[in-house]
Amino acid sequence: MNTHVTIVGAGLGGLTLARVLYVHGIPVTVYEAESSPMARAQGGMLDIHDYNGQLALETAGLTEEFRGLILEGRQATRVLDRDGTVLFDQPDDGTGGRPEVQRGALRQILLDSLPADTVRWNRKVSGVRALGEGRHEVTFVDGGTVTTSLLVGADGAWSRVRPLLSDATPEYTGRSFVETYLYDADTRHPAAAKAVGGGSMFALAPGKGIQAHHESGDTLHTYVALTESQDWFATIDFTDSAAAAARIVREFDGWAPELTALITDSDTALVLRPLTALPIGHGWDRVPGVTLLGDAAHLSAPNGEGANLAMYDGAELGKALAARPDDIEAALTEYEQAMFPRGAEAATDGTQLHEFLFGDNAPHSLVAAFLADDQTP
Ligand SMILES: Cc1cc2nc3c(=O)[nH]c(=O)nc-3n(C[C@H](O)[C@H](O)[C@H](O)COP(=O)(O)OP(=O)(O)OC[C@H]3O[C@@H](n4cnc5c(N)ncnc54)[C@H](O)[C@@H]3O)c2cc1C
Repeated sequence: MNTHVTIVGAGLGGLTLARVLYVHGIPVTVYEAESSPMARAQGGMLDIHDYNGQLALETAGLTEEFRGLILEGRQATRVLDRDGTVLFDQPDDGTGGRPEVQRGALRQILLDSLPADTVRWNRKVSGVRALGEGRHEVTFVDGGTVTTSLLVGADGAWSRVRPLLSDATPEYTGRSFVETYLYDADTRHPAAAKAVGGGSMFALAPGKGIQAHHESGDTLHTYVALTESQDWFATIDFTDSAAAAARIVREFDGWAPELTALITDSDTALVLRPLTALPIGHGWDRVPGVTLLGDAAHLSAPNGEGANLAMYDGAELGKALAARPDDIEAALTEYEQAMFPRGAEAATDGTQLHEFLFGDNAPHSLVAAFLADDQTP
């Protein structure tokens, strides 16, 4: 295929597509808003699943590099009641299909696998315009433009490419996460570290929860979940971290101190992350010369699949284009016809997972789900 592929967004999805195209000798450029790979902390541990994320990395020829990133023992999972009682505790015996890696390290192996000039940093797209016959013009905030015969929006939740295909925009799900980090946990925060254990911990009650990961470098990374309106969160001044922590922890009155410490002892400023989603089953009629992948196509509330799906989309789209070098439209049709139901199914499963996590029977609903199918999110 001689068509030069233009990707907007160097997240895990866009980079996986770029890598698969590169492996097949298809010319590609990725335009990324961030100024460098280090511009933003790529915090967070991701479990990479054997049925999507790992397959994508295999298609990208990066399985060995991925294996080198796996954090041993981090697949351990436990569910706690609000008083700290352990209701479910599954150690990591090394046989699970969801090994954990740091997101930044995963992004880096993808970047390292591409020629240096593939990703153009500091190129934030401000808008896109159809030129006809499958061609598009991409405009950057610096005033520059490029034209392309194949444009892929891998630019996440607030995609600038999406309006070429659909009017949908993400809507607030009714729930937000508040993010905290506790560093040097074993020595500085031993009670909280013990409560979290070696991997993932879910302390839950209807409508709320404290979910933490024991990450590399002895860091406890926590998402505090609250089912509240955006107006409710707007009354909290997150620029005053101590006051914000004091307000958030009031919602966990009576919870075990080793759990509330994950809020009040944060070593970083609390960050509010409103959870937004596209409508389940979001799709569009085929538009020549452009498509979307990952969150740009099927953003849903975090359910442990988003990064995996973005990479899988990227790999599948890359394979489809490589298999049909003379018929881009057929390749895009094939990719989208499989991607739409895949995204919808994951979003539906995610809605059910949120019910297990935060519904009226939490935390027992999550324990029952784990016991029923030995599934961890
Ligand atoms: C709190 C939270 C926790 C999560 N936990 C998990 C988890 O444990 N496991 C999991 O699988 N998923 C998780 N997810 C979901 C996951 O983060 C996303 O689904 C995944 O990152 C989507 O990848 P992507 O490549 O489609 O988009 P993104 O990762 O959003 O990448 C998009 C890229 O495009 C760039 N960009 C955006 N706009 C422009 C523009 N105008 N011009 C140029 N570049 C642009 C961005 O800077 C970014 O680099 C979580 C999400 C949240 C919010």
